[in-house]
Amino acid sequence: MAETPFLQANSVSRTYGGDQPSGVKQISLDITPGKITAIIGESGSGKSTLLRLLYGLLSPDTGTVSFKGERIWGPEEKLIPGHDAMKMVTQHTDDLNLFARVWDNVAAQLPSTNVKLKEEKTEQVLTQLNMMQLAYKRVADLSGGEKQRVAIARAIITRPEVLLLDEPFNQVDTSFREGLQHDIRQIVKETGLTVVMVSHDPAEVLSMADELIVLKQGEIVETGHPKTLYQNPLNLYTAELLTNCNVLTVDEAKVCGIEAGKETVVIYPEWIRLNNILKTSKWAVKQVLFKGFYEDLILEHNGAILRVVNDESGKYTEGDMVGLKIKKWLEY
Ligand code: ADP
Ligand code: MG
Repeated sequence: MAETPFLQANSVSRTYGGDQPSGVKQISLDITPGKITAIIGESGSGKSTLLRLLYGLLSPDTGTVSFKGERIWGPEEKLIPGHDAMKMVTQHTDDLNLFARVWDNVAAQLPSTNVKLKEEKTEQVLTQLNMMQLAYKRVADLSGGEKQRVAIARAIITRPEVLLLDEPFNQVDTSFREGLQHDIRQIVKETGLTVVMVSHDPAEVLSMADELIVLKQGEIVETGHPKTLYQNPLNLYTAELLTNCNVLTVDEAKVCGIEAGKETVVIYPEWIRLNNILKTSKWAVKQVLFKGFYEDLILEHNGAILRVVNDESGKYTEGDMVGLKIKKWLEY
């Protein structure tokens, strides 16, 4: 007998009225339990719609969403919309009690029948999310990013089986974001929590997700492990979502010494190696963009422009001539 699927969508469509076709179409997917699945796609591609369908905040027009073999009830069928075994955190943190302390906001999610257990669990979750130092602050006095941490703590303290995250790290500073991402990964590892997250930040999905689902205009265009999708995306769309890559026409590719068989050539900046061999130094350094521990060089030759990663900061200046070798490219 086949195992009962965990969280599954079966040919799900949900469209909105209006002149432009919008929403999601014919979505079939299987969420792997105990893993982090990230849904990526450009703005308006249907990511939030899909997440709301999985949670039961929206009903599909056609198709079904099921959790452990049972159809998920839509908002018309349930007093409190949203599946009981799931929690969702979005960019909006309006349901927090601004005038209560962080501790009370989180603890209030648990029943008061066992006060000792309630205290223990609150402390545990606040520790897991590195928030004990905030415990006695009023939520009103927190930064946007700290409020989002509180929202996540409130969601996970009830031990949902699935945590749905709709771009919840947007307000979090880059430096804190990595910490929070790490903490969530750790919780997934320790507790077997299943996470489905929506994001448009390539660095975030590549470092956090075990599986990726790529949405374009409401449809899934490809799925796979982050490394596979990054190295060999089936679609130009996916490559552009995951990297800041060079996209060249056939003629521009020719300038780079590539005879392409298809219309478009994609070269990631890290696939280009720089060298100083004089006779091949045909590329002019147009710009040097400081990126911290590395630089982006913008190079030009016969009308073709390439962005290249240079990890030897300070080696080149504008106007220099350099040579390059392209190790890999993709064609679409
Ligand atoms: P994403 O989260 O990827 O930005 P959404 O799922 O929010 O995309 O939206 C997908 C498309 O559906 C967009 O074109 C959006 O304008 C449209 N849409 C979303 N919600 C509604 C709604 N309640 N009514 C009408 N159109 C909507
Ligand atoms: Mg959205």
